[in-house]
Amino acid sequence: MHSPRTILVVCPVCEKRGEIQIPEQVIQENKNTSTILVRAGITCPHTYQVFIDRKCIVRGYQRTDYEVPVAEQSKNPSFTFAAQDFHPPATMPHKPVIPAKLDPFIRAAIRDFLGEIDTLPSPSTCAKGIAGLHDLIQSQQGFHFILPDMKNWANNLRIGAIWDEKAKERVKKRVRIWLDKIS
Ligand SMILES: [Zn+2]
Repeated sequence: MHSPRTILVVCPVCEKRGEIQIPEQVIQENKNTSTILVRAGITCPHTYQVFIDRKCIVRGYQRTDYEVPVAEQSKNPSFTFAAQDFHPPATMPHKPVIPAKLDPFIRAAIRDFLGEIDTLPSPSTCAKGIAGLHDLIQSQQGFHFILPDMKNWANNLRIGAIWDEKAKERVKKRVRIWLDKIS
């Protein structure tokens, strides 16, 4: 028997924390990332998706702008796409929709930026680069937990005057952490 795993989640809309339980089977059946749908009323009044990896580590969140009522959903033929992608066990409280794939393009963009940091002329150009990556991730992923940190660093660099080797190293170290967290 598989025991359910408890995962701590944070709503991407109101940031309220909560715990959800998912059967271990769900993690094992999906190859890389599993998408969990948390319906309104589970942790807070919002419906959102949680992306978790095989180690049950939360990799990101996606807010939902509109939830089609269940009665309409069952009549809509376009919803049949999900059927082949998951096999919900009887006890499953939250169904995964489609396996989420993090865009490899985002990783490549962050890696490119990492290589350019040494050549950037000022902290403000570095801030611009980080802000660009932030917006790229947001447009592709919706919410990701590294986004607030990226924003902080971009804001601090924008007002920072010192741009020596030490400062560059600090930024590079941080960018490597982001790269690690987004993989
Ligand atoms: Zn919420």
